[in-house]
Amino acid sequence: MDLENYQSILAKVNSYDATLVAVSKTKPVEDIEALHQKGQVVFGENKIQEMCDKQSQLPDDIEWHMIGHIQRNKVKYMAPFVSLVHGVDRFKVLRELNKQAQKVERVQDCLLQMHIADEESKFGFDQKELEEMLADPSFAELQNVRIRGLMGMATFTDDEKQIRKEFKGLRQLYEQLQNGVFADKQGFSILSMGMSGDYAIALEEGSNMVRIGSLIFGERHYDK
Ligand SMILES: *Cc1c(COP(=O)(O)O)cnc(C)c1O
Repeated sequence: MDLENYQSILAKVNSYDATLVAVSKTKPVEDIEALHQKGQVVFGENKIQEMCDKQSQLPDDIEWHMIGHIQRNKVKYMAPFVSLVHGVDRFKVLRELNKQAQKVERVQDCLLQMHIADEESKFGFDQKELEEMLADPSFAELQNVRIRGLMGMATFTDDEKQIRKEFKGLRQLYEQLQNGVFADKQGFSILSMGMSGDYAIALEEGSNMVRIGSLIFGERHYDK
């Protein structure tokens, strides 16, 4: 883990009044604990099971963000504690979040993940799917979820122009919704974009929440 890197990233993120989500997926609880002792409170994981295991071993004041793709059958395990769900990419996922949040008497904060990359592999709503969901009468009936904003992942490329264009597009949509459908709703105020490789561009393009893993914790090794 690189604590010096952490301090400089944090300073930059703070200078934009943005929130730093420390992405600790695949990393041991000891690393999370060490960063938590430096004052980091928000941690991001991309597997529900892994997040639940870690949550049970770590201090209660940690805010857990689920940033990965959501398997609906596992939502119930995180429902009691997860503070923000970034990866809502289908109406069905939102319905399940609502159902499980209701059971534990919570209102679940979440972000809608938009597909902005020029890649098939990334998840997320496209414009049409988003419009359909927003127009669906049953959408307005969901009492136990609160849409806090949008999340997106740019194309994995060295082409800075392309990344910037995708982030710009997401920001425009975010502002449209903020001034439109969500104008009379409380708390639509989070734009989650930017990771280790592109967070500087994301901040310039209006991100107010960045999700950074490898720059803080070092490269991930999946071959265990
Ligand atoms: C892993 C992950 C990140 C962090 O990636 P790094 O490149 O290590 O910073 C951010 N967002 C999502 C959705 C991720 O899955």
